[in-house]
Amino acid sequence: SYRKGGYHAVRVGDQFAGGRYIAQRKLGWGQFSTVWLAYDTRNSTYVALKIQKSAALFAEAALHEIDVLSSITEGDPSNSKCVVQLIDHFKHSGPNGQHHCMVLEFLGDSLLRLVRYRRYKGLPMNKVREICKCILIGLDYLHRELGIIHSDLKPENVLLLSTIDPAKDPVRSGQSPILERPEGSNVGFSSVVEKKLKRKARRAVAKISGRNSPLVGAVGVPKSDRNVDGIDVQCKIVDFGNACWADKPLAVEIQTRQYRAPEVILQTGYSFFVDMWSFACIAFELATGDMMFTPKPGQGFSEDEDHLALMMELLGKMPRKVVVSGAKSKDFFDRHGDLKRIRRLKFWPLDKFLTDKYNFSASDAREFSEFLLPLLDFSPEKRPTAQQCLEHPWLSG
Ligand code: ADP
Ligand code: MG
Repeated sequence: SYRKGGYHAVRVGDQFAGGRYIAQRKLGWGQFSTVWLAYDTRNSTYVALKIQKSAALFAEAALHEIDVLSSITEGDPSNSKCVVQLIDHFKHSGPNGQHHCMVLEFLGDSLLRLVRYRRYKGLPMNKVREICKCILIGLDYLHRELGIIHSDLKPENVLLLSTIDPAKDPVRSGQSPILERPEGSNVGFSSVVEKKLKRKARRAVAKISGRNSPLVGAVGVPKSDRNVDGIDVQCKIVDFGNACWADKPLAVEIQTRQYRAPEVILQTGYSFFVDMWSFACIAFELATGDMMFTPKPGQGFSEDEDHLALMMELLGKMPRKVVVSGAKSKDFFDRHGDLKRIRRLKFWPLDKFLTDKYNFSASDAREFSEFLLPLLDFSPEKRPTAQQCLEHPWLSG
């Protein structure tokens, strides 16, 4: 991807925007961009520099993202809405073309990292509550005040305000910023290695064939405790690359597979409620360490069909009204409202699932399911809004 139209290779010490920003180290990457920790010499602070791939398609996406981020930032002058802020943006020319760059406030590790840090064991319930509150404050702001659907809510796209490891936090660790480019250093290509590792992990998962048993959890990961008591769990929603205004939906297929709402699979049309579905999936994952739905294609059925089956096994059969509502309904369901190609479902209601598989106490399981189930209503318009959800007794513990 480091070619014409692709990523811009960055070296530690590289300067941007006429020397204002100086690259420190790579923070992460996505399909469209690499993100670097940079030192802002004007404000003497650290920022996250998101450098978009250069091809026209990516440039257009960046302009849209800048547009969305600008309204988010303008609408939240006190920076209290749990959504990332845009500080600056500019264009940067390099050997692979012209790259749109976004300067964002520097945040810490993602919730995915936090879940991994806990070795997929799940977080203590009080931490789950705190994180849920932040995400809901962010969603309420986006939905109700701005009319924006995030459309790709998942643990990678929610970042803590601080890093898990203080040594990696440029402020807490007290490192002085690098103001000049060191000789011969080249760390811009590390994403190639990351990608190879990811592909390997995906292949390992794909090897589990047949219909996915809900008993298959995170494979091969030892489930031992790791303390998170000291981590202040405030967080913010990031990555507005796929966000849209609710009155101008962009794509038909939105959201990352595991966090995708049923109306997106059925192609019924969508609104803010797709984010509420993804939010419930995230809450489950934080509490258990496992993704709520990990669909896989199998012999005679597609990934979509497996996904619908998994949803019904956990949440019960889809009401007829929902079943027939989508452009794709006829592909998946017969006229009785049953899946055409997956005939036998193993129902396992959520509260029982939590006690049986995750050793939740009966009361914890009941209370948590009472919080989650309305968010997972198959009828999108019946799901609570973020504002309503913030009032739920489960959040106040
Ligand atoms: P993409 O649109 O390419 O997926 P993201 O906005 O999701 O890009 O950023 C990719 C990764 O970079 C994130 O998953 C995260 O690890 C890191 N990142 C993004 N924004 C920030 C930020 N403001 N502070 C710290 N790290 C960030
Ligand atoms: Mg992303």
